Amino acid sequence: MVVKTKKLYIYECALRRFADILMEAKSQSIMLESYAMNGGDGPYSYAQNSLYQRGLMEAAKGMINEEIAMKLDIQELSLAASEPIRIADLGCSCGPNTILAVQHIIDALMRKFQSHSTPEFQVFFNDHVSNDFNSLFASLSVLGKQYYAASAPGSFHGRLFPKATVHFVYSSYALNWLSKVPERVVDKTDPAWNQGRIHYTGAPKEVLEAYSDQYAKDIDSFLQARVKELAPGGLMALLIPAVPDVITDPQITIGSEFKLVGSCLMDMAKLGMVSEAKVDTFNLPIYFTYPKELRQIIEENGCFSIERMEVLNIPKQHIVMPDLRQRMLYIRAILEPLIKNHFGNEIIDQLFEIYSRKLSESSIFLNPECQKTTAIFLLLKPI
Ligand code: SAH
Repeated sequence: MVVKTKKLYIYECALRRFADILMEAKSQSIMLESYAMNGGDGPYSYAQNSLYQRGLMEAAKGMINEEIAMKLDIQELSLAASEPIRIADLGCSCGPNTILAVQHIIDALMRKFQSHSTPEFQVFFNDHVSNDFNSLFASLSVLGKQYYAASAPGSFHGRLFPKATVHFVYSSYALNWLSKVPERVVDKTDPAWNQGRIHYTGAPKEVLEAYSDQYAKDIDSFLQARVKELAPGGLMALLIPAVPDVITDPQITIGSEFKLVGSCLMDMAKLGMVSEAKVDTFNLPIYFTYPKELRQIIEENGCFSIERMEVLNIPKQHIVMPDLRQRMLYIRAILEPLIKNHFGNEIIDQLFEIYSRKLSESSIFLNPECQKTTAIFLLLKPI
């Protein structure tokens, strides 16, 4: 018989406690921190498959220029001697779009400071802790950049920076992510239970309501955090994917890609490749707002004045995503980490094979005219 010494016993208890903490952190991270995009620069990476998001950023460049030129008040910023201008990109992913966006903002700020002494710039790249910051910083280091780079890991639905320290906040194509899947959609006893689907597209209205309630809460938390972090005179430019207030075109494809992924998972469930219960408990924490709703949330929150709100139409998506493979890769780069977390690695290739086949059979997805997306450009100033 092995007689345990007291030391060994204490050591074992400590190990067990440590394992519990890790398990707890892991289960929380699966729920809250697992939405980062595919990292690296391989064929399925976000870096290689985010031309569409880049198009959105390009479409808003002129507005950012104008707003910095017109609305940024250098006196109001009242930078202390040798204080840098601090810029934050929230939900930056692993590049290259964030690098281009930040450079664009710095160019506009340099023009603004032309007749003053130009300050130094510090840029904070924010995303979930699971984001591939290594790839991002590796690509930054080869550029002759004009700023000091830092990361601010964590969720932008909470505080990221000390009080009144950031001068310009930017976020593009990230505020469509919810902080979590709305609880109601996984509650079997609730009318919002989203059985057999992974998103609210094509679901009963209760599901949509549960998503839109969560969105309102999340944007409210986001704004509450940002108003504390922005320095006096600071500005926030947001690019938020959305649907139009009135959808005149029933063929509009926003969200239907997710519906299609859901139907592929259900096909796999019918073939016994995944369990149906697993599909029922999987929902995408993604929501597309519409201008009226977003305006109301911001007004009710009351921390910011809306200095500009414009709906961008991003035309000619078929040029950005000319072939079906590219459309599949665009969705795969975004959803793969979430799907892997829930279903495991093994189903990924087959799922996206089925997805590609269904995509090629769909008249909606083949028609470039249906590939319209809307995004909202917002310029907000703390009240
Ligand atoms: N801004 C980049 C990336 C958009 S993809 C571009 O325009 O290309 C959306 C990014 O937002 C992802 O990297 C995702 O991990 C991040 N994201 C989603 N929810 C987030 C949150 N709560 N906090 C921080 N980052 C978040």
